[in-house]
Amino acid sequence: MPEKKKEKEKRPRIVLPTLKVMFGIMRREKPWFIVIYVFMALAVIASGTAEIIFPKFIIDELVAMAGGEAEAHITNAVLLAAVYIGIIAAANIIAAAGNYFQDILREWFTEYIDLRLAERCMDMDFQYTEDPDALDKLNKAQEGMSWYSGGIMGVTDAVYSIVTNVGKGAASAGIIIFSCPWLLLVQLISLALITFFQARNMKIEQKGFAELSKLNRIFGYVFWQLADFRYGKDVRLYDSAAMMGGKAKYYSDKMCGVWRDQSRAVCKNSWGMDIVNSLRDGVSYFYIGWLALTGVISIGDFSMCIGAAGTLYFSLMGIVGGMQDIANKCNYAHRYIEFMDYPAALSKGTRKVSDGDHTIEFRNVSFKYPRSDKWVLRDVSITIKQGEHLSVVGLNGAGKTTFIKLLCRLYDVTEGEILIDGVNIKEYSDEEYRRLFAVVFQDFSLFAFSLRENIAFSDDTANDPAINEVIGKSGLAGDVGKLADGLDTMIFKSFDENGTELSGGQKQKAAIARALYKDSPVVILDEPTAALDPIAEYDIYRQFDKLVGGKTAVYISHRLSSCKFCDRIAVFSDNTIKEYGTHDELAARPDGIYAEMFRAQAQYYVS
Ligand code: ADP
Repeated sequence: MPEKKKEKEKRPRIVLPTLKVMFGIMRREKPWFIVIYVFMALAVIASGTAEIIFPKFIIDELVAMAGGEAEAHITNAVLLAAVYIGIIAAANIIAAAGNYFQDILREWFTEYIDLRLAERCMDMDFQYTEDPDALDKLNKAQEGMSWYSGGIMGVTDAVYSIVTNVGKGAASAGIIIFSCPWLLLVQLISLALITFFQARNMKIEQKGFAELSKLNRIFGYVFWQLADFRYGKDVRLYDSAAMMGGKAKYYSDKMCGVWRDQSRAVCKNSWGMDIVNSLRDGVSYFYIGWLALTGVISIGDFSMCIGAAGTLYFSLMGIVGGMQDIANKCNYAHRYIEFMDYPAALSKGTRKVSDGDHTIEFRNVSFKYPRSDKWVLRDVSITIKQGEHLSVVGLNGAGKTTFIKLLCRLYDVTEGEILIDGVNIKEYSDEEYRRLFAVVFQDFSLFAFSLRENIAFSDDTANDPAINEVIGKSGLAGDVGKLADGLDTMIFKSFDENGTELSGGQKQKAAIARALYKDSPVVILDEPTAALDPIAEYDIYRQFDKLVGGKTAVYISHRLSSCKFCDRIAVFSDNTIKEYGTHDELAARPDGIYAEMFRAQAQYYVS
């Protein structure tokens, strides 16, 4: 099958579905603006038609003065001019009012779309946050809905423009058919040629968009890394500015190259259009002038035909250009729909999690990351009973974090199953299931909100004793007492110059307070202390273990910080659980991995 045909078959029809979504959003959110569009269109069509017809009658009246009854003709001409001015003035007032609302709504819809995209990013399956295809689609959705399509208003404005051009085009075509019919043919031929050149330019621009989207994302990343103060230490201490600057320049040059090639290709078609335009004007004037000179049409008709030809040409151009514009804008805006409809990676269950005790079971679980052929976990089986404290140890890269990601169902297992209380976790509803776990990941995030919001994810906790309790338990009370606004102090200085920069230890305490506040039956620490020395890590894990009490707890570390006080230890190695048992059992195995690790690290934990 020829490539072009294949390409066509692959691309679904997008214009109508996109228009439906865009107008659907407008009808739902701002329906009154559709009424304003109708008034604006009527005003534009009325004034455009008046601009062609009224001058003819006024000129004819003035020319007729020479034939007698000058006063009557002057009166008619003045009356016609007054009506004409009235129509134009009314149309201008309506247009100005419409533009005013258009400007306001353009801003409003931009924020509306940004918000929808942000919500979608937060609710889509986690694995997409690590998936380059999803990130690329997000980027295309953001760019496609901003400057490339002009967003919702960009698309609806394009439809409005076609409607007004159809109205004006129909009026001027009617006038031309009655007064100078051959002119229609000239206009249509030139239109066909111009459309051909424009279509070629559009294809060039779309090809450029596809290439630029990825380059933009990489350039944006490198650029923001360069400018972001948070990376200031690494940039300076590792002298990485030169490397990053080099990368930014490399991608910037590549982007300029794409723009340059695009401009060159567009230029050739633009010359073609200029030639066609000149020929059309020459032939049209010659034809209408000849009709006037031979007395076939009056002076007024001559003026009307010139006006009608111009209006018809620009209307037809507007229609064709508008259709291309709509196709173009829908093509970009559709990226937003594609991203919003990105298929779920994980099936959604509906089952509720039962109250009371919970048993977690991994049954012959194997796992590969999407788009990867490498088994990260192989045949992992383990049961964690309610209230059990499990220490998961192993070298970096052994699959410990992946084990937790599977447990929290951020990814689905490739083989085997994970059960909670004997039920496959895929059957539970997401919200219910995630309530089971409070996890502090190694790369936990604090946001530029107040400390209270960072811990409770709510600013309505002023009267909630639980928040003060977890602040106390996590050892953050002393630090909070020293902050000017206590718990309501903003973290980071991004939006508040009185914001605070927390130390590494304070950040960990805040993350631990957040996990405690969630009060879930299973708590997990996934090496949030990796940056600390073994003894400090041991202290934090031990204190945390006391706070956790009777909850189920899983502690991850590449060290043995939590092994002595945990009920069981699972040693990850070679993509699976190689050893499993209590500290005493594992330490007693002569050639065991755990025993070997313990001998190497015993200095920190034997006292
Ligand atoms: P650990 O927590 O024991 O240090 P991880 O579970 O983080 O180990 O990683 C186990 C393996 O999985 C490593 O080889 C890592 O490179 C790989 N890995 C981790 N995350 C991803 C991902 N999103 N995509 C592909 N491979 C990954």
